[in-house]
Amino acid sequence: MVEASLFIGSEHYVANSIAMMALTHGFMALAAAVVVLPVLGDHVGVALLLAAAFVGGLAPDADLLASHRKTLHYPVGYSVLAAVLLGAFLLTSSPGVLVLTVAVGAAALHSVSDVLGGSAEREPWNPVTENGVYNHALGRWHRPRRYVRYSGAPEDFLVCVAFAAVAIPAGATSATVDAALLGLVAFAGLYSLCRKRLAGIAATLGRLVPRRLRAVVPTVRVTETETDGTTIDIRFGR
Ligand SMILES: [Zn+2]
Repeated sequence: MVEASLFIGSEHYVANSIAMMALTHGFMALAAAVVVLPVLGDHVGVALLLAAAFVGGLAPDADLLASHRKTLHYPVGYSVLAAVLLGAFLLTSSPGVLVLTVAVGAAALHSVSDVLGGSAEREPWNPVTENGVYNHALGRWHRPRRYVRYSGAPEDFLVCVAFAAVAIPAGATSATVDAALLGLVAFAGLYSLCRKRLAGIAATLGRLVPRRLRAVVPTVRVTETETDGTTIDIRFGR
């Protein structure tokens, strides 16, 4: 077991690794949705469809708070469910089913494409595990292909920008949404610049927290295991 102590407000912080940035997945899903929009856009509002794609694309990484790239990553499950939902939509033409199909399809795309990234571990640029994405159907981890070595790697940011460059100028989104999306791209750039120094940055921030306040600042501990991916444990009061 490799243990990474991760702290908000204490000695050190090691950000949990994601194969690719959640934002890269969000923009990937958004770009895919923009491409299929001419076919699907007649059935339901464009904004709702794109929002479903973006949220569905981000959602699996919410398992950072559980067993990362296992608890909410279902490469097979989401793909099968998306196919079933698509069948249901073709039979019923229900807008609600279509929105659900897009969201689950985006989550499937996320889970499958995480295999192309790095491993779920403390320093994926110095990999010690072969845990890419967990396959619940096979009951084992897929080996990471490492085309994108870790979340926030320069190549990750490039992929993120490429998908954003497809999604944003397509004209499917309003000026306000475009501005928000560009803001997210800028945030992704900043994250990529700081990625390997997050530990040091968080440690510095932690030292700025007054001693009296440390009791109320949560302690977050990340544990990496060979079999179970990453778990994050948050505690209050020290
Ligand atoms: Zn993921």
